[in-house]
Amino acid sequence: MVLGAGLLTALAMAIGILLARASAGLQANDESGIERINALLPQTQCGQCGYPGCRPYAEALLQGTAGTDQCPPGGEATARALARLLGSRGPQHMPPAPAAGIAVIDEPACIGCARCIEVCPVDAIIGAAQFSHTVIAADCTGCELCIPVCPVDCIRLDPLPGHSTQPSPA
Ligand code: SF4
Ligand code: SF4
Repeated sequence: MVLGAGLLTALAMAIGILLARASAGLQANDESGIERINALLPQTQCGQCGYPGCRPYAEALLQGTAGTDQCPPGGEATARALARLLGSRGPQHMPPAPAAGIAVIDEPACIGCARCIEVCPVDAIIGAAQFSHTVIAADCTGCELCIPVCPVDCIRLDPLPGHSTQPSPA
């Protein structure tokens, strides 16, 4: 009996998602639908979503096998835009958890190469070439994409209040 009720609930949710997508003009494996979803993604091809790139993630979203909250570079704005387009509901489509930290640049050490600006998907870094750069804390999603590209290792992720980068004591 419980199993039957669970199946009915799952079926109702699946039908609801399909109806929402149909009303948005999206159908499984539809090329234009994939393109519309892909256009919302930051195109960093970083793989943090669990797929080999933004387009494979877009395909999985259209097929309903991925959640809209799997793109750390895009952050909450992308998750919300995807949810709006897909008409998604349910736990896997909740907005992502807030970032655990924000990037901070050690400005005296920065050589102004601008590599970090090029990879930041949300334009959270400012600075002119040959001058030190700065992270706009309010815009940073904590995706960490800027950290490995810095040739002088002057970018770190500082924890936000309420988060810790240290492992919990056993
Ligand atoms: S962690 Fe770096 S790349 Fe990611 S949003 Fe913040 S400044 Fe941009
Ligand atoms: S990548 Fe590093 S050195 Fe280059 S501009 Fe950004 S913070 Fe400065």
